[in-house]
Amino acid sequence: MENIDKKFADGTNKVLLTDFDFEEIRKLVTDLKEPGYRAGQLFQWLISGEDFSGMTNLSNSFRQKLSSFSRAVGIEIIKNLPSKDGSQKFLYKLFDGNIIEGVLMKYKYGNTLCVSTQVGCRMGCAFCASGIDGLIRNLSAGEIAGQVYAVNKFMGGNSQKREITNIVLMGSGEPLDNYENTLKFLKIITSKEGLNISQRNISLSTCGLTDGIYKLADENMAVNLCLSLHAPFDGIRNKIMPVSKKYDLKSVIDACKYYFEKSGRRVIFEYALIDNVNDSKECAVKLKELLKGFSAHLNIIRLNYVKEKKLKPSSKERMEIFTEELKRQGVSFTIRRTIGAEIGGACGQLRRSYSNNE
Ligand code: SAH
Repeated sequence: MENIDKKFADGTNKVLLTDFDFEEIRKLVTDLKEPGYRAGQLFQWLISGEDFSGMTNLSNSFRQKLSSFSRAVGIEIIKNLPSKDGSQKFLYKLFDGNIIEGVLMKYKYGNTLCVSTQVGCRMGCAFCASGIDGLIRNLSAGEIAGQVYAVNKFMGGNSQKREITNIVLMGSGEPLDNYENTLKFLKIITSKEGLNISQRNISLSTCGLTDGIYKLADENMAVNLCLSLHAPFDGIRNKIMPVSKKYDLKSVIDACKYYFEKSGRRVIFEYALIDNVNDSKECAVKLKELLKGFSAHLNIIRLNYVKEKKLKPSSKERMEIFTEELKRQGVSFTIRRTIGAEIGGACGQLRRSYSNNE
């Protein structure tokens, strides 16, 4: 919450209870001189996405006390757009009127929700729609979690009946640029008192903030790391991803190797094919060299065309030549199908399918 203006749209100055982990809720309940078991009850309601009015097993006086200084729900679904392929896009409204979006993708093994970590983004990648207006603000841990709670509830779930099994941090924003809130979100959502989502079912995608990758590795979590690579040469990467001027490829790959060693989790490298930018044979050959020596996998997707940007998706022919070369080189890769194309994917750019279960 530190970087969030706590003034709510209704002019109040209330804290958001979904920002609290279970220990903090316990302490709050004790401070309010309520019996200890109320902490469990309250927490269950919060992760069910319930507002005070629905917390039926809590006394009116306790609910009134809580609502005098806090809110239970920090995010509201304002639109739901189903797609023919079964995915659906959600638009959420935050307390200050900001709007974010996300996508729910259905697979045989469960439902994956793509969540945002910031309103906007300040990384400025040349192909990405999220950063067009820069960073508006960070989301708090409870606002990130609130996306999961809201969609879980929308799908008929609650704290016991979990409709969301997998999470990808691939919505708008750069999770490692909002490190503390993202980490707290990961802790709350995977906690046994929380929705208890397995760390292995969560994937965090970063454009390559090397310091953050080391920091995350040292948290000793089994969360999957995805690295938005998009080019195997610094020259190309510098042109499309300004962040790479600060952290060159060598430093980013070293950080990924460290992450792999610490977590034992295969690192996923994302690669959007951009016509005549990163889709040459030389790029395919270089990728082999770059990703050798540790457990890495390449996710290829054709660039989603963003009308505000000049870059074009690779032609089918170039894509074919590129992937043939990858095959020849023996690089482990998957071509991702796009999901929810006619509903605009997510976050203006995210028409991708991704899962860490494959
Ligand atoms: N900031 C993080 C999280 C965003 S995840 C990151 O950079 O990884 C969203 C993924 O979609 C990233 O891999 C991003 O590079 C990719 N992406 C952004 N715009 C895209 C586009 N127009 N087409 C295909 N992929 C895109």
